[in-house]
Amino acid sequence: MPTFDYLIVGAGLFGAVFAREATDRGCRCLVVERRDHIGGNCFTKTINDINVHWYGAHIFHTADEQVWRYMNRFASFNHYVNSPIANYHGELYNLPFNMNTFCKLWPDVHTPEEARRRIAEQQAEFAAVEQPRNLYEQGMKLAGRDIFEKLVKGYSEKQWGLPAEEIPAFVLRRLPFRFTFDNNYFNDPFQGIPVGGYTPLFQRLLEGVEVRLNCDFLADRQQLMSLAERVVYTGPLDAYFDCRLGQLDYRSLRFDHQLLEGVANFQGNAVLNYTDAETPYTRVIEHKHFEFGQQPDTVISYEYPQRWQPGLEPYYPVNNERNEHLADAYRSLAQKEEKVAFGGRLAEYRYYDMDKVVAMALHHPWLH
Ligand SMILES: Cc1cc2nc3c(=O)[nH]c(=O)nc-3n(C[C@H](O)[C@H](O)[C@H](O)COP(=O)(O)OP(=O)(O)OC[C@H]3O[C@@H](n4cnc5c(N)ncnc54)[C@H](O)[C@@H]3O)c2cc1C
Repeated sequence: MPTFDYLIVGAGLFGAVFAREATDRGCRCLVVERRDHIGGNCFTKTINDINVHWYGAHIFHTADEQVWRYMNRFASFNHYVNSPIANYHGELYNLPFNMNTFCKLWPDVHTPEEARRRIAEQQAEFAAVEQPRNLYEQGMKLAGRDIFEKLVKGYSEKQWGLPAEEIPAFVLRRLPFRFTFDNNYFNDPFQGIPVGGYTPLFQRLLEGVEVRLNCDFLADRQQLMSLAERVVYTGPLDAYFDCRLGQLDYRSLRFDHQLLEGVANFQGNAVLNYTDAETPYTRVIEHKHFEFGQQPDTVISYEYPQRWQPGLEPYYPVNNERNEHLADAYRSLAQKEEKVAFGGRLAEYRYYDMDKVVAMALHHPWLH
């Protein structure tokens, strides 16, 4: 007889929420995690009293009140509002694109009406292009030359590792402009950072659940599967099937975390985006500002996009035609696995914000 009702592969957000809910319903759960820590990509590591977002800046935001209330059971969230700054060759602009951005970009613009007019003039250059063939044409059509060249082009080229002319147009569906002086990046009514970082939140989610770290499910699949009635798998979709139909592509990232002792405030904001093509990193994160820290030191992280290859962390799916086709083929195989549910960003091969992952775990049919 299997010892557990559920074997949960991955101690990230999907796995942890599922484990909590199943445990609270009286089920016996075993969580196995390949890494040496819980939390998945939300993991925070405390360095000199500063909670460092180890796999990139994570800002919790949602319009789903149920999800917000749920998360607040496991942490107190502070009032952090994400207001990134763009640095283009040393020129600083507020993001998202709003009246602060427009007034800095065009010093003769002072009112929403003037800003609208200037953007329309700029968009006119590519207005005749009906079907943009690539990111360059799409960006010029949606944003106009000034915004596209200073704030979109270089950043996107670094993210994708390709010139704008070779990036598919679909990656930029729309560019929201805000005609108020509001630097809040998100429109959601609920937003914040868990006080003390994300790791304690995961510790609370996983309270009373058996967790085995440094345990790769794929390395010992037969034995681990024999321990449980059913499996919740949150690892990469193709890896579950030994990549038998081919490998899915991802974009990866490299983080260079630096402790700056004696530097109390390095950049004055949590998130700085470097939007020119020449600066090799896309973002610099100064973690203490997520929690309004007053420590004498600071920790910053340079974020470099990089090509993914086996052995590197798969951060973002590349949802082009080839990969979608391949992912669909794997999804068909997944449906035939009656004992296994596939959940979360890697097993579904989709980019999801945290709130969506929480909602999907909470509403999973096996819990209802
Ligand atoms: C750079 C970056 C920034 C982000 N910023 C935000 C943000 O600001 N706001 C927001 O809402 N969302 C953000 N996200 C999205 C957020 O990270 C995800 O929504 C969330 O982490 C998904 O949780 P998950 O459980 O699906 O996946 P993961 O967190 O990846 O968890 C999956 C876990 O499974 C483990 N695993 C994989 N294979 C195996 C195996 N074979 N055996 C055992 N364990 C295995 C992995 O090690 C991992 O711990 C960001 C994502 C990235 C990449």
